Amino acid sequence: MLNALTVDVEDWYHICGMEDIFPPSKWDEYEDRVSIGLEKLLDILREKRVKATFFILGYVAQRNPGVVRLIKKDGHEIATHGYGHIQVYRQTKEEFRRDLRKSIEIIEEINKNKVIGYRAPEWSIRKDTYWALDILKEEGLEYDSSILKARLIGEPTINRYSHKVKTKNGEIFEFPPTIMRTFMGNMPIATGWGLRFGIWWDIKRTVRNLNKKGVPALFCIHPWEFDLEHPKVKLPFWRNFVHYTKIRSTSYKLHKLLEEFEFGPIRKVLKL
Ligand SMILES: [Zn+2]
Repeated sequence: MLNALTVDVEDWYHICGMEDIFPPSKWDEYEDRVSIGLEKLLDILREKRVKATFFILGYVAQRNPGVVRLIKKDGHEIATHGYGHIQVYRQTKEEFRRDLRKSIEIIEEINKNKVIGYRAPEWSIRKDTYWALDILKEEGLEYDSSILKARLIGEPTINRYSHKVKTKNGEIFEFPPTIMRTFMGNMPIATGWGLRFGIWWDIKRTVRNLNKKGVPALFCIHPWEFDLEHPKVKLPFWRNFVHYTKIRSTSYKLHKLLEEFEFGPIRKVLKL
């Protein structure tokens, strides 16, 4: 059973909502370290013969086009993470469309292939921003993977498996990250910090149970989780927890996942 492996390609200073610490006007001045973690991650995927979907931030592709070429060379799927890394609910519809178009233009110019998938920064498509799905469909995208079935930062009412959503212009696929149900609510075990924080046995059991039912899981990781030397800054408590907790465990968890289960890019899992 093929599960989806996804990577949000952004750098160490792309932390949502932290514009006062990392103002976008200063981004060009920060050390460009995205390739350091990315190359380590690509090495693991090559060794395990696994292909993934890489949601590349338009800004990263613009600053360092070699990143897109590295990923393309290894035959992975290339999709978009938007341009400016601002949560969807902090953008107007017009701003969202502009941000999306800009990212697609930059990525397609380098990749020479059509982008068909989108991932919002910080799982920020929720009930109040479902209009974003209409815009994604209008702009020619075929799937989205931006809605987390969880209370704090996601949309608890969403269907937790991959499914089709009706938009004004037809249907689009939505593929949420895998969650684990617990008595305390849904645990996002497949997103960056959730994967690092989650107990391997729980993660394994969740994926195995899904696959037994014929349902694919979806996981998300970041290149900076493989670059342990990247600059750490003082963040508010919650951001600090989400960003740096158990960062060393990403590589271990990824190895375990790839040894235990079969993974591929979203395009292949959804047969697009
Ligand atoms: Zn991101």
